[in-house]
Amino acid sequence: MSKITIAIDGYSSCGKSTLAKALAGKLGYAYVDSGAMYRSVTLHALRQGIIKDHGFIAEQIIKILPEINLSFKFNPGTGSSETFLNGENVEKELRHMIVSENVSKVSAIHEVRVKMIAIQRELGKNKGIVMDGRDIGTNVFPDAELKLFMTADPDIRTQRRYDEMLAKGQHPTFLDVKKNLLDRDYEDTHRKENPLTQAEDAIVLDNTELNREQQLEYVMKLITDLTLSVN
Ligand code: C5P
Repeated sequence: MSKITIAIDGYSSCGKSTLAKALAGKLGYAYVDSGAMYRSVTLHALRQGIIKDHGFIAEQIIKILPEINLSFKFNPGTGSSETFLNGENVEKELRHMIVSENVSKVSAIHEVRVKMIAIQRELGKNKGIVMDGRDIGTNVFPDAELKLFMTADPDIRTQRRYDEMLAKGQHPTFLDVKKNLLDRDYEDTHRKENPLTQAEDAIVLDNTELNREQQLEYVMKLITDLTLSVN
């Protein structure tokens, strides 16, 4: 069966990464979380003191881009790929609220996108990849054989993200988590460059009422049908 490219886009906390990881595991494909790349740039800028009180000067972030080196390693223990920023595993810190609160503004900077998209295309050049994000099917891999556009009810999404954060020992309020999701959705869909939109040839997947297994089964069926028609 020849390898394909699977692009998963959608709103914040729709379970894109959960689905992408499960698909990659089943198919023996690489999984790349493109959001983790934008989060890594944001984390680095926070650590350098460039982002202050939710504000920054874009030129200062552009200046530090050359010092950012990203790599990804598969962790057999967790069954997923982890992000390394200049050699340090930052997987946990990437999900902190302070990073979430700033990442959409950082990801709107042209130079940041150029650098991240180049890395993403390099990682996907041989196909056999599942990548999730906001512009994967529309911009990074416009020729992807399978494009999914994920959505779910905002309260369900908030509850999932809230539970995930509690499980990681963080203590946000439900309302703060909801506000962050909705703010990011707004910024991601309204930015000038590569905004979050549904690709014309994407299949919409609303998982409000689907559990993980049902969702995986549905998408695996799509892939089987697709690869049968491709081969
Ligand atoms: O997927 P995740 O929620 O971790 O993404 C964090 C942020 O990174 C998004 O809200 C968006 O601003 C940005 N992003 C992007 N393009 C992508 C992936 C993520 O702009 N392909």
